[in-house]
Amino acid sequence: MGANALIEQLQRILGPANVVHSATDLMVFEYDGSVDAAIETARPVAVVLPETAEQVAAIVQLASREGLPIVPRGAGTGLSGGSVAQQGGIVIATTRMNRILEVDFDNRIALVEPGVINLELSDYVVPDGYFFAPDPSSQRACTIGGNIAENSGGPHCLKYGVTTNHILGLEIVTPDGKLHWIGGRGEESLGYDLHGVWVGSEGLIGIVTKAMVRLTPSPETVSVQLTDFIDVDSASNAVTEIIAAGIVPAALEMMDNLTIQAVEPAFHAGYPMDAGAVLLVEIDGVREDVADTAEEIAAICRLAGARSVRAATEKSERDLLWKGRKMAIAAMGRLAPSYYLHDTVVPRTRLASTLAQVGAISRDFDLPIANMFHAGDGNLHPLMLFDRKNHDQVERVLGASKELIKYCIDIGGALTGEHGIGTEKRDYMTLVYTTDDLAAMAGIKHAFDPQASFNPEKLFPRGYMCGEVRALRNAALAQKYGIYPM
Ligand SMILES: Cc1cc2nc3c(=O)[nH]c(=O)nc-3n(C[C@H](O)[C@H](O)[C@H](O)COP(=O)(O)OP(=O)(O)OC[C@H]3O[C@@H](n4cnc5c(N)ncnc54)[C@H](O)[C@@H]3O)c2cc1C
Repeated sequence: MGANALIEQLQRILGPANVVHSATDLMVFEYDGSVDAAIETARPVAVVLPETAEQVAAIVQLASREGLPIVPRGAGTGLSGGSVAQQGGIVIATTRMNRILEVDFDNRIALVEPGVINLELSDYVVPDGYFFAPDPSSQRACTIGGNIAENSGGPHCLKYGVTTNHILGLEIVTPDGKLHWIGGRGEESLGYDLHGVWVGSEGLIGIVTKAMVRLTPSPETVSVQLTDFIDVDSASNAVTEIIAAGIVPAALEMMDNLTIQAVEPAFHAGYPMDAGAVLLVEIDGVREDVADTAEEIAAICRLAGARSVRAATEKSERDLLWKGRKMAIAAMGRLAPSYYLHDTVVPRTRLASTLAQVGAISRDFDLPIANMFHAGDGNLHPLMLFDRKNHDQVERVLGASKELIKYCIDIGGALTGEHGIGTEKRDYMTLVYTTDDLAAMAGIKHAFDPQASFNPEKLFPRGYMCGEVRALRNAALAQKYGIYPM
């Protein structure tokens, strides 16, 4: 079927207003939130904007009949190239599937469509004393579907867990165009724990069309401490000591001086401009516990060399402190036209030495690198500042990135804490996973998507899936993983 006939068929399913196909309109879908130095951009044949799960199923059936690639997309804020249509085909964007369908406070659950914006769900239930705990810094824009596909985290995931801990059940459309429900409404459901497979699957095995999510009761009291240090070393040591003391704050975030230089003039959050690093520590719970824990944390920070500890208990004060952190990436435009944000994880005890290594890489490659990150769970976000129009700077960013990622892996870290692999880190997968590991992952992909039509070229090392399909024809592998060739 040619492009025109395809557009006609899509319009028949969705109506003309829900099919984007002009070259100019498609340009905005060539990207996600990643910098294009780190990912390859690409243009789909069409972007469709379904409003129901049945429409999604009909589009997937059409694409499957035509052998076309399909790429699920939420708000496009992803940072690893996941929603970019590497092989063209059809992008299914869920932004018009944005209804909160059911809220059940007695059972602390909500049924939502995948295009619901993360923060809008919390805003909807906050007046009744609940919130949706996963809170990526992009929560004003990103969708719950995107959060599920990336298993997103955020500052409050230190205490409350990442997205997978808040998903009970999913309605999905599998690559054959069939609608299924997996998981349930409660803690346990019968059968395989398939939602564990789907959360974090980066749009490679189908598309989520509804989600049953857990709502978390709002704590009685919240306190946020702003603690400032002369350097990142002492702030890192304070983080290690807080966690080693068995304290689990609701959030434990660090920002270094370069970040403060961008954020403070932009948002006037009250961060001291001369601090080497600041920690934002949020403690929540019952009043008495919060007061005791806050005192304990302040004492640990002072011992680690904190110059001052300021507690914000009023909501407006807390919101301002958080605004600085959550808008930190946006503020980086004041320092340079482009940034490349990393997402590696290191053991918490290696924070100080890793930040020293980031400093060394910054000097070696002559690149400013800012750090703002989820310190409590060791999830680093070194942010390299450059100008993507400058070829030499782009080359240095890529070289520095490679060095940084290898270092983090060598000391026992992980490739990604929350942004996913996508195309950005697919070629690093072999640093962490053996051939057998990758074959097992490819086996899961193959079990759901034997035609490899969903989100091709993502997650697996470049060229790997073609090799893997051949490898799967090998009887030994097929027997080992119980997967049979197409
Ligand atoms: C300024 C900024 C700050 C950020 N901060 C954080 C942070 O603190 N924590 C964090 O984890 N991430 C963060 N991110 C990354 C990003 O916002 C998250 O990964 C987010 O969950 C992506 O959601 P999205 O709706 O934009 O998805 P998209 O970018 O559109 O898609 C992301 C992936 O999900 C897949 N997908 C989307 N919808 C579906 C669906 N319904 N079914 C199946 N697959 C689907 C896509 O194919 C793609 O692979 C940040 C990004 C930016 C730009």
